[in-house]
Amino acid sequence: MNSTVRVRFAPSPTGPLHIGGVRTALYNYLFAKKHSGTFILRIEDTDQKRYVPNAEQYIVDALDWCGIPFDEGPKGAKSKGSFGPYRQSERKHLYRKYADILIDKGWAYFAFDTPEQLSLHRKKNEENGETFIYNWHNRKAGELMNSLVLSKEEVQEKINAGQDYVIRFKSPKDEILTLNDEIRGTIKIDTNTLDDKVIFKSDGMPTYHLANVVDDHLMEISHVIRGEEWLPSLSLHVLLYKAFEWEVPLFAHLPLILKPTGKGKLSKRDGDQLGFPVFPLSYFDEKTRDVSRGYREEGYFSDAFINMLSLLGWNPGTTQEIFSLNELIEVFDLSRVSKSGAKFNLEKTRWFNQQYLQQKDNSLLAESLLLFLSKKNIYPKKKYVEKVISLIKERAFFISDFWVIGAFFFEAPRSFDQKASRKKWKENTGIIMNDLAHIILSINNFISSNIESKVKAWITEQNMGFGSVMQPLRLSLVGALHGPHLFDIIEMIGKEETINRIQHAIKELS
Ligand code: GLU
Repeated sequence: MNSTVRVRFAPSPTGPLHIGGVRTALYNYLFAKKHSGTFILRIEDTDQKRYVPNAEQYIVDALDWCGIPFDEGPKGAKSKGSFGPYRQSERKHLYRKYADILIDKGWAYFAFDTPEQLSLHRKKNEENGETFIYNWHNRKAGELMNSLVLSKEEVQEKINAGQDYVIRFKSPKDEILTLNDEIRGTIKIDTNTLDDKVIFKSDGMPTYHLANVVDDHLMEISHVIRGEEWLPSLSLHVLLYKAFEWEVPLFAHLPLILKPTGKGKLSKRDGDQLGFPVFPLSYFDEKTRDVSRGYREEGYFSDAFINMLSLLGWNPGTTQEIFSLNELIEVFDLSRVSKSGAKFNLEKTRWFNQQYLQQKDNSLLAESLLLFLSKKNIYPKKKYVEKVISLIKERAFFISDFWVIGAFFFEAPRSFDQKASRKKWKENTGIIMNDLAHIILSINNFISSNIESKVKAWITEQNMGFGSVMQPLRLSLVGALHGPHLFDIIEMIGKEETINRIQHAIKELS
């Protein structure tokens, strides 16, 4: 690629960022970094009705957590540079000029039709079995109220009288547009099917289409990489570039992220119903007071989350699945983005987290687990926590699993598995456990292998079955019949705690 790559992620701050949006940001980021380009965050907040005040901060925090920082954007020092401001509401003064340029060039016009008049037209068309399209089909005088059919004086009069108007783009008649998409290839569109879209609203704000194209041009965006839902806008955008006589950037429309069934777009409702988040961070909706779950809060590692997302719609062409961000930058290519939607898969998502957890350094995991335990007022030594992790890591998908699998390393069992107690704790078990406690008390070199050989020798000497001792012992220490090697547990919790737990079990279960 010889020209400079400048790409942007351009979310509208209307609420939390869906994982589809995060993936768009990620692909933009990967593409920019691969080509030593610039990744820009632009906040598209022209729609005042849908504006949510804390949404921008959410977007910034989410990109931050994902580890895909923007090079230019609306926050702090990054907002400087010749391409800012990066919030469309702060660029408001810019857009009208461009709408006027289009009017002057004959590519746009004033339209005074009220919403009521428009719905009347729609109804009339429907009655005749037709669909109403606001374009040349309806440019006959007397039908629509716009500067294409009114005289110059009439238009000026209406404007002077303060009548509400919008500015519409004038779509060409009888043309076949040839559009190019890096992912979908060539698309042909008949301009007669296009609406004369509003590009400037009566509230003095541009619509998405005008602001988006003007900003992409002014910010020298080389590639527009965005979700498939914007594909229907592509014809208008390309027509706008041509009308301005600007160079058209390259476009790439990313496939949707689908529900696990593959039927339709993944929604928040799917996540709620099936028990997984569709947002990177949890989100508190101030209006509904509803809290949405987030991957961060559910205990996902951001690198695992990003790795999972990278493969939802793109493939490396090999069977490799685990990629660091740097590896992704190296291998990412728009030509390997698929045309069809990618099904979200919860099992796979959890699998990624498990894979990353296994790779992580125990000392790092210990820090997270210490934080988790501190919320339960449990403050073990870090070395101890690291050891626990090394014993149970294999079975863990999340930091919280360490607690589910190995709480007994940190506190005595609060209860005993009832079924196991009934089956394994016999009449004479109390006496055996009491004797065993004495044996354990007498062991000096308190390491797993030594405890094991001493206890086993004693069991053999007493002519007892191993199960009749080991299972009640496990029940006493763990509260159930699962867990890692029993003598490792004994070494870890120590002699005193082992004996206390045995005595407590005798009291509870005998
Ligand atoms: N503001 C649009 C959005 O919310 C941006 C679409 C685009 O990238 O052009 O997704």
